[in-house]
Amino acid sequence: RAKETGKARCVMYSPRHSSPTEDDISLEAAMFQAVREGEFVLHYQPIVDATTREIEGFETLMRWKHPTLGMVSPARFIPIAETNGLINLLGAWALKAACVQLRQFQEAAKRPLYISVNISPRQFRSDKFLEVLDDAISYSGLSGDQLVLEITEGTLMIDPAHAETILGKMAERRARIAIDDFGTGYSSLAYLKRFPISVLKIDRAFIRDLPASQKDGAICNAVLDLARHLSLSVVAEGVETEEQMAYMRERGCRYVQGYLTGKPMAANVAIAALTERHYEEVMRAEATKVVQ
Ligand code: C2E
Ligand code: MG
Ligand code: MG
Ligand code: MG
Repeated sequence: RAKETGKARCVMYSPRHSSPTEDDISLEAAMFQAVREGEFVLHYQPIVDATTREIEGFETLMRWKHPTLGMVSPARFIPIAETNGLINLLGAWALKAACVQLRQFQEAAKRPLYISVNISPRQFRSDKFLEVLDDAISYSGLSGDQLVLEITEGTLMIDPAHAETILGKMAERRARIAIDDFGTGYSSLAYLKRFPISVLKIDRAFIRDLPASQKDGAICNAVLDLARHLSLSVVAEGVETEEQMAYMRERGCRYVQGYLTGKPMAANVAIAALTERHYEEVMRAEATKVVQ
């Protein structure tokens, strides 16, 4: 199955939610076992400065090391976990583990970094969410401003009044909010005014065909312009080529994330990337196979 298909399942209008396949049902049964067996792991993808190529932070990406299927893509298992509620358990674990991991990254790098964690709609709406957040911050000893929480436009729009309350509480803790997959949701731009958002992550769909696609170029330019006027920072997702990197950098995009500057990698590889000079070679060598 193509990665694109997997991603499309996460959006609101997808028919997938109403009709789980047999494969999904057997995966679901295996997931509960997988939690007990500790088969879920976290990988980390560098978010780098487009000019200096220095690693500024990492996005935490969950992986399932299935004993026979190999690595299962989160595009497959996150929607299932979202349906059966397991996401609350997995998400709480990921948030806490990522915060603890960031401390080790910073010790290795000897400089401040940040950690970005994906929060699913169901997690965001859970009564326990703020408790989980506080627990992760206090247990790890991080300060809130080292944490970025990635949510989608859809998450904000399900219940904007509730979202406003939660985002306010996050801001009190100085955690930053990033809009993930920016531009692919169905929401209006008004929420950028209403909510305390710090980062826009331009979806890979708008980067993939750069620099050839004039339409994608126009969209990226418009987002960068908007972000400048609203004092938001921008991360270009899915940057795979030097040309894409140069295109975005020249138009004022400060941060990039993509296979060009580092695939998602295990924590020990991330530490090597932070401490070794030829880190790009280290990262390219560590491409991980993901089952789709
Ligand atoms: P996302 O948050 O938009 O994450 C970015 C995805 O793009 C990741 O896919 C990453 O591996 C992939 N990617 C990064 N750079 C490139 C590139 O240059 N080229 C290509 N082709 N792909 C690139 P991944 O790891 O398969 O994750 C898919 C989605 O699953 C994530 O999309 C996120 O929505 C969700 N997800 C992953 N981990 C978690 C988690 O811990 N919690 C929650 N709630 N969702 C998660
Ligand atoms: Mg993300
Ligand atoms: Mg994204
Ligand atoms: Mg994306």
